[in-house]
Amino acid sequence: MQDLELKSANKSLSELGINNTAEVMWNLTPAELVEHALFNNEAVLTDTGALMADTGAFTGRSPKDRFVVKDAKTADSVWWGDINIPFEEEKFDALHQKMVKFLTDKKLYVREAYAGADPNYRLNLKVVNTLAWQNLFCYNMFLRPTSEELKNFESDFTIICAPEFEADPEVDGTRQKNFAIINLSKRMILIGGTAYAGEMKKGIFSVLNFILPHEKGVLSMHCSANVGQDGDTAIFFGLSGTGKTTLSADPNRGLIGDDEHGWNETSIFNFEGGCYAKVIDLTREKEPEIWDAIKFGAIVENTRFYEGSRTVDYTNNTVTENTRTAYPIHHIKNAIEPSLAGIPKNIFFLTADAFGVIPPISKLNKSQAMYHFISGYTAKVAGTEVGVTEPKTTFSACFGAAFLPLHPTKYAELFGEKMEKHQVNVWLINTGWTGGPYGIGSRMKLKYTRAMITAALEGRLDNVGFRKHSVFGVGIPESCPNVPDEVLSPRATWDDKEAYDKKARELGAAFIANFEKYKDFATEDILAGSPNL
Ligand code: ATP
Ligand code: MN
Repeated sequence: MQDLELKSANKSLSELGINNTAEVMWNLTPAELVEHALFNNEAVLTDTGALMADTGAFTGRSPKDRFVVKDAKTADSVWWGDINIPFEEEKFDALHQKMVKFLTDKKLYVREAYAGADPNYRLNLKVVNTLAWQNLFCYNMFLRPTSEELKNFESDFTIICAPEFEADPEVDGTRQKNFAIINLSKRMILIGGTAYAGEMKKGIFSVLNFILPHEKGVLSMHCSANVGQDGDTAIFFGLSGTGKTTLSADPNRGLIGDDEHGWNETSIFNFEGGCYAKVIDLTREKEPEIWDAIKFGAIVENTRFYEGSRTVDYTNNTVTENTRTAYPIHHIKNAIEPSLAGIPKNIFFLTADAFGVIPPISKLNKSQAMYHFISGYTAKVAGTEVGVTEPKTTFSACFGAAFLPLHPTKYAELFGEKMEKHQVNVWLINTGWTGGPYGIGSRMKLKYTRAMITAALEGRLDNVGFRKHSVFGVGIPESCPNVPDEVLSPRATWDDKEAYDKKARELGAAFIANFEKYKDFATEDILAGSPNL
């Protein structure tokens, strides 16, 4: 039995300015954290042994309350704007001191972990939590040092996360009571006023998106990744809800990671040690790997039980559509260890096109690959407003602009270099609507999307004919194993062909309008990938 005293020997938070008078618990095991979470009334148990927690008022990240400290290090390197909102150094220091004071008499859970499965690019972390379940989230989501490594562990970046601590916007310089502030010089993230644990995960992702491309020449990517039995790596880029997690969990391939990766000279490596999967409408039939991962040690967030039971009702969206589970990657049977593999042979851009225009699978040439990478398109279904059925286009550079501290062209340049250097197939996959837009058509069947990806990975589309899409110019395969031919052509699935053509031109025009802002960067070669009206 490891006891608390032993685990925390020689460990102190004083270097963070935290001189805590209450209990500070270092690197508790999942079982201990579950006990604490239950004892503290932070969470309850489900009948699979998973811990179920609510994240409170925030059931997603709050991008408008996410700041980056503007100082000598970042002033000229960070891409300032709505995504990277500047925060004053002095305000950060004052807020830090205020938080430290707040934490003095609180029970704290501290976790030492790291991000980056490649030892050359690893970032050692120290996370200070007030909530046991959030510390378990960090155990699940970050990489776990061995007990030997923990003995002399030196952290290089700190997260202080205290959901109960609220800022005073007028004094502290925040927009609201909640905040997530990244300080790249002090190497610290402060989070308060929100219990959405994803802020910690995406905070560290943003940090790596600064450090790796800017300081180490490594491309950081918002993508999932898996590897076949022959060692062929595939990566899946896509905005939230487009299928990165779902489609990377493939019983025939080793899972590298579900959300954040680096691409260095020789490999693709996971930043994380766990997966954070959406669970709305989850069924064992459609997503057995994820279903089976929700066992003891896993966390489910913002879900509800069937009445009178401890069985999670995954159809229940009364708290949010964004219900989630966080589990360590070894809960997926075929996850590989360590989480890295060779240069990708196939790259998939996932889009959930709610207009039903983009083909369910198409092949991109190099220009189109660059163009679509920079565009980062998806379309969200209409909000909850009654009567609003028109989907909304979303363009998010590099399929993850929300997490990019540098200008998107920095990532695009690195991506372009990799494309030049390696022979990679690039595919555009529409996991969204078919047979018409949202409201008329229906979502592409998961089994078809899986079959298309499998066919691409197995080289079974190498010898079929391709037709050019009239607007996007991308290559649509004429046939695909285990997929009916008519599903492959979006136009064929629409009853009203004219309506399809009109919508396709409208979407093409939206791409072109969005791309205006990259015109200084866009070479002729990249522009050759643009839609043709
Ligand atoms: P995030 O960045 O927020 O983690 P993600 O890209 O990982 O998002 P997923 O968690 O994989 O997205 O979510 C995709 C959702 O869409 C899942 O709930 C999945 O069941 C559902 N879905 C329905 N049809 C499809 C399809 N054809 N392909 C992929 N996913 C589908
Ligand atoms: Mn995901």
